[in-house]
Amino acid sequence: MRSYPKSLARLIEELEKLPGIGPKSAQRLALHLLHTSQEEAETLAEAIRQVKQHIHTCSVCFNYTDADQCAVCSDPNRDDGILCVVGDPRDLMAMERAGRFHGRYHVLQGLISPMDGVGPESLRISELLKRIRGSSTEEVVLATNPTVEGDATAMYLAGLLKPLGVKVTRIALGLPVGGDLDYADDVTIARALDGRTDM
Ligand SMILES: [Zn+2]
Repeated sequence: MRSYPKSLARLIEELEKLPGIGPKSAQRLALHLLHTSQEEAETLAEAIRQVKQHIHTCSVCFNYTDADQCAVCSDPNRDDGILCVVGDPRDLMAMERAGRFHGRYHVLQGLISPMDGVGPESLRISELLKRIRGSSTEEVVLATNPTVEGDATAMYLAGLLKPLGVKVTRIALGLPVGGDLDYADDVTIARALDGRTDM
């Protein structure tokens, strides 16, 4: 990197911090950006700035939104009787892409992972319980990833939710074990939802 001018070396360094980007890819992207027009480069910089300024979490379900409530929460045509719990907004997007689920969501913003120091108190669990108490929710579908962390989180939530008198189900493990919901295709997600079982 010593051979690059300072500002170019800095861009490479910043790109390398992105997930899935190694030193080689960072160099390739930086050189690509160097060759794009001033306008294109500014558009990218502006898009990053806009996202940081305007995107926050939904006040109800903790999905991403640029309004007070996200598109799902503010949709009057969704079924209030069924609520799907996911780990992060990418999982919600995956469920929406599959197009089979028409209820509401709750995004935990993570999964229980003692190895990474993530306990239940770091997640949006108290908000979930508060939402369900006194609501018309009849069923909670636990759609956390089929991983050790996802299963542990589902087990923990089932223990808290069942005493509230709601039906608690877990999506079927037709999903590849250890995989992310985000990587599953739409048919697999639809099948996992259809085949959900009682917990
Ligand atoms: Zn929402």
